[in-house]
Amino acid sequence: MSNPFAILFEPVRIGPVTAPNRFYQVPHCNGMGWRMPESLAAMRGIKAEGGWGVVCTEEVEIHHTSDLSPYFEGRLWDREDLPALARMVESVHAHGALAAIELVHNGANAVNLYSRAAPLAPRSMSVIGAGGYEPVQTRRMSKADFRDVRRWHRDAALRARDIGFDIVYCYAGHQLTLPMHLLSRRFNDRHDEYGGPLVNRVRLLRELIEDTRDAVGDRCGVAVRLAVDELMGDEGVTSEGEGRDIVAMLAELPDLWDVNISGWSNDSATSRFEKEGYQERYCGFVKSLTSKPVVGVGRYTSPDAMVSAIRRGVLDLIGAARPSIADPFLPAKIREGRHDEIRECIGCNICVAADSRHVPIRCTQNPTMGEEWRRGWHPEVIAPRHADEQVLVVGSGPAGLECARALGQRGYSVVLAEARDELGGRVAREARLPGLAEWRRVVDWRLGRLRRMPNVATYPGSLVTAADVEEFGAPHVIVATGATWRRDGVGRNQWRGIPGVDARSVFTPDDIMDGRLPTGRVLVYDNDHFYLGGVIAEQLTAAGCEVTLATPAALVSFWTQHTLEQERIQRRLLGLGVRLLTEHTLTMLLPGVAACTSARALDPVQIECDAVVLLTDRLPDDALHASLLPLLGDGRLRSLRCIGDAEAPGIIAQAVFQGHLAAREFGTDVDGATPFRVERWPGEAPLVLP
Ligand code: ADP
Ligand code: SF4
Repeated sequence: MSNPFAILFEPVRIGPVTAPNRFYQVPHCNGMGWRMPESLAAMRGIKAEGGWGVVCTEEVEIHHTSDLSPYFEGRLWDREDLPALARMVESVHAHGALAAIELVHNGANAVNLYSRAAPLAPRSMSVIGAGGYEPVQTRRMSKADFRDVRRWHRDAALRARDIGFDIVYCYAGHQLTLPMHLLSRRFNDRHDEYGGPLVNRVRLLRELIEDTRDAVGDRCGVAVRLAVDELMGDEGVTSEGEGRDIVAMLAELPDLWDVNISGWSNDSATSRFEKEGYQERYCGFVKSLTSKPVVGVGRYTSPDAMVSAIRRGVLDLIGAARPSIADPFLPAKIREGRHDEIRECIGCNICVAADSRHVPIRCTQNPTMGEEWRRGWHPEVIAPRHADEQVLVVGSGPAGLECARALGQRGYSVVLAEARDELGGRVAREARLPGLAEWRRVVDWRLGRLRRMPNVATYPGSLVTAADVEEFGAPHVIVATGATWRRDGVGRNQWRGIPGVDARSVFTPDDIMDGRLPTGRVLVYDNDHFYLGGVIAEQLTAAGCEVTLATPAALVSFWTQHTLEQERIQRRLLGLGVRLLTEHTLTMLLPGVAACTSARALDPVQIECDAVVLLTDRLPDDALHASLLPLLGDGRLRSLRCIGDAEAPGIIAQAVFQGHLAAREFGTDVDGATPFRVERWPGEAPLVLP
């Protein structure tokens, strides 16, 4: 019988170059950018090694007037930036993949904080980048400015070609770039040849494509990244309107169409809001208008969905950012028929959050992401065991599960004990809350791996005490016992707790996840600020409660701005009828009333409620670890380590990382020195300019 997935491994011609297969790592930011070129090159190289046929850069600024500081994206301002990019090309080519560069002028999105140049835009307007509230406006572009932008883009394309890039992008997506600002009626009020009818508004994009073809088209494929729908209706580009018209006008001009929806929060929608293939309904038309290959994204992790997208004529190449982050070896696993080994992205956007925090990319599912160079971690390979040792891991949340899995992969004899009847800790429980079902993949992938390991035994329903450990006689114990939500109200800025919380009408997220739900009018007090407060408000609304969500922050689910979800969460809660009170700090609970201070009111505010759910700090469940310390002291234990939320409560990605780190470090000397390499550019080995 023929292999139904063989179609994914067909080569695809992109102008003068040929992609070896249909797996295409689209441009994605990573928080490393120009500042950490070694880290970046190693990360991209791993993708190529894992079978991605094309590996792209992130957006690469072509000029200092396109300066995205303080974000670390790519830079090709001049020749001095070439060695860093050449490093990436080299590591991608080493595995036979094509290297693509996404050139960009960021127009009204560039605040130019580092370069201090005046930002450029179709008109004089407030800049829209860096959070959207920078007190600076752009300069209305002159004719000379347009000529300059074209020259800068052409020069960058030539330089990219010279260091070996195979595909060069002209980028009009995500509301981030100058060609897109010109396309947009919102930003373009010009009356010259760059304004007015669409044919004029599309002019710069057309010119950039033509210039790029002219400059490098004999050697490089020319790609266009276009947002075909901004999900703003008539206010923006739509796939039924101007998005379609633009593709029709430029249909055969580029060698490749890379199409998606805009802005970034729509393009990288989380699994809470969109499912696999969610962009097909917007981008599906493109192939009907062009003979050129089309790549698109949609968080594809299932080989069947990928084959289907190609067979239905929606896409020619399967674009992926997040699926390639969660599993750089996804193509190789499909090629080798190891589908059950695919580590599927859960759609949480922790990877995105790293970019907006200006730190190297990380991933909930893939703890090696961003650590390829600085720690030398490979997503598939790990050092074999240093000795024939047995390790007891207590607690099967993300930290314990990943630790047991990675220790098992190293070949140790591992016992994983879990007090609850179900393995998976907080992830198994949280994944049952509204919208978080895909998070279950964190548990499922690890359990799937563990099942294949005869050297790992799992014991659910086994509460472990210090006496058990002694009796069991395991020489090495790793404690991953998690954390419990506080019931006293102690949290950031509330170190004394909240008077009145001893009432029976006070609940925590643990109660909700254990099925103990309040009734009536419920106040969800969110001093945690990530996803859980909003999710619990949703859950309680569905259970028939009348919910008010109050938070000391200026926005509901404040931190979810980093995962691009904040606006969607707010809209969803409003749609469900949840009353939202921002800048409210809970000070006291009285029968039937919660007293708050508010930055929006001079007098205290009283909220009538029958029950309160507190999302404040968590208490590490570190009692087992503490009770084992004497055993370590007198030599009955040879090693003891506390990881994950039991050490320091945090996000799931950190628990997975800590579990992985503990497994990698097991049997090695950890001496307190900086445990990873730090990029101090120009790096260890001098780079040579081409
Ligand atoms: P993390 O995020 O650090 O992995 P979790 O809270 O998700 O932490 O998981 C911790 C797990 O440890 C929970 O499933 C909990 O039931 C389990 N656990 C806690 N204490 C013990 C114990 N003494 N013995 C066995 N399992 C325990
Ligand atoms: Fe997917 Fe989350 Fe990993 Fe990003 S961090 S790649 S969204 S699992």
